[in-house]
Formats: sequence, structure tokens, C-alpha cells
Amino acid sequence: MMLDKHFTTLLSIFLLLPFITIGQTQTSEFTAKGGAPTTYKKIKLDNKVAYLHSETGKVISKSEYFVKHGTHSHGSDHEHDQEFDHFKYYWESDKVNPYKDVVVNTPFKIEFDQKTFTHPVDQEIEVTSRYGRRKRRPHRGIDLNLVTGDNVRTVLPGKVRFVGYSSGHGKTVIVRHVNEIETVYAHLSDYKVKENDIVAEGQVIGLGGNTGRSTGSHLHLEVRYKGVCIHPEYVFNFDGSRTIRGSELWVSNAWKTPRFHSAYKKSEVTPLATKEIAIAAEKAEPRFYKVRSGDTLGHIAMKHHLGVSEICKLNRISKKSTLKIGQIIKVR
Ligand SMILES: [Zn+2]
Repeated sequence: MMLDKHFTTLLSIFLLLPFITIGQTQTSEFTAKGGAPTTYKKIKLDNKVAYLHSETGKVISKSEYFVKHGTHSHGSDHEHDQEFDHFKYYWESDKVNPYKDVVVNTPFKIEFDQKTFTHPVDQEIEVTSRYGRRKRRPHRGIDLNLVTGDNVRTVLPGKVRFVGYSSGHGKTVIVRHVNEIETVYAHLSDYKVKENDIVAEGQVIGLGGNTGRSTGSHLHLEVRYKGVCIHPEYVFNFDGSRTIRGSELWVSNAWKTPRFHSAYKKSEVTPLATKEIAIAAEKAEPRFYKVRSGDTLGHIAMKHHLGVSEICKLNRISKKSTLKIGQIIKVR
């Protein structure tokens, strides 16, 4: 229903557009039918989709093209449409994660058509908690310090999918980007965008706060691909360089699993550039075992073809230490 309403609004804008923009430079960029832009040609540049302006020769990225013209392709059968299909599918404005029925196997590839991003906070980056194991529950985002009321900005251009409250995240804005990555901005005190808004990189999407399950004002930022959380520091470099770690990044099991990281310690990041490298990295990943009732170190060691001393060394525990049910033991 939301889409229909949106579509009708857009359609009326397109019908009016030729009349209200006559005499302005914008007119030449659109055709009346469906409003699909005709002066941009879809091209491949460095194996990535880009758009070439036929008159000026200027090439813009898919993200820039989307921000400028993305919404104009609704409802037409133009080839540009398929390019932005993921702004239609699983496009639900009432769910934090609309991808619950989607299985994403690792390793999977994420792609970026730009090399840098904008910091979501204006103050100097101060990480107060990282992606990984934390005392009570795993932490699936990065916490950045801010003062309540500070601007929170979208790190990349995109379209706002979700604006709303969730018990854990508090006031939350979720932006979907052209590469199907979503960024989640949580614990906000206020919203500055609405669902379906097109946002430019760095646009203020809300104000920082302390809503939801939060102690002290900060921004909780998540990076998701089809609902799967990815370690934000695997993708975005928060060292001040504002760089994205690669135009093609392979996400292995370790870069989506909090257990492999500590919320209190910076993980060392080596971007996985190819599928082969990612598969090899996964094969070398540590394996874990969850302690069950009746388990002893001897049992666990035998089950995994290890000596008790090897298990102790892997987990930095002594042979005499008592195991707790549910405790996670490294077995490789
Ligand atoms: Zn957090």
C-alpha cells in the first residue's frame, strides 16, 4: 500500500515536471514517459556500473546516479529499472530486518563504487565498543561516542527504508545503499528523515541520543547485507582516513560472527579480495564448541582429536579449570 501511494505521488510529479521545469536545464534530462533519464548511458567502468552523460561526457557512479535519478525510474520498463530492483524487493518499512527468510552463505561478496565514506558523527571518532563478544550478549555493531542532539549522518548515499522505534535499538534509522548494504543508526533522540527519502552521502538522518537499550548517549552503527550483520570495521576504516577497505570485499564467516571478535579490543583487518582467499581464510578459522552438561576437558579434547594440553593452550586455561555449561571452547 505504501508503495502504491509513493508511486502515485511520483507519477503526479512526473506528469507535472515537464510543465514546471520548462526553461530550466533540468528539463533536458528527463523524458515524460515514466520520467526515465535519457541523457545518461549505462556503462561499465573498471568492471563497475557507471553512468555517462551523453552531452557533458561526465561519468558518475551508480550511487550518485541513484541519488540524482533513482526514483525517476519507478513504473517504467526502462532498462535502468533492474539496476535498482533492490529498492523494491524486501522493501518493508515496518521491519528492522525484512530479510528473515533469506539465507546468505559465506563467503559472500559486497561491492562499493566509491573509495571513501562520510563519518556518521561530526566529532572525532571515539569507539566506545566494538563488534564482538561482550558480557551479556554479542555486540553486532560499533559504538561511537557523541553528545545527545549531535548530528548523525548517513555514511553513503541511499534510500531510507526504516524510521522507527525498536526495544533494543531505540529510535532507529536504516538506510539502504545501491550495493544492497544497509546501515543502521540506533539510539537516536530524533529523526531527520522519513521512510523512502533519498539521501545524499553525509546527509543528516537523525540526532544522536540514548534511546533503547543504551547506557549513555552514543551511536550504535550496524552494517548489514541482506539482514546479516558485518563487522563495521571490516568495511569502513575509522582510523581517520575515511576509506572503504576495498571496491570488492569478501565477507567470511569470521567477519559476520561476533564470537570471533572482542567488543573491547580492536580486531586486525585483512580485507579478503577474492573468493579463493576468503574460502582459504574460512578453512583456517578457529572452531568453537559449546560446553554441555557432563562434558569434561578430556571428552572435548577426544571429540576433536586434540590433547588436553592443546585445548588448554588454545583457550588459555589450566587443566584444572572447571567448565561451565554453555561456555565456548576453542577447538581449533
Ligand atoms: Zn552498540
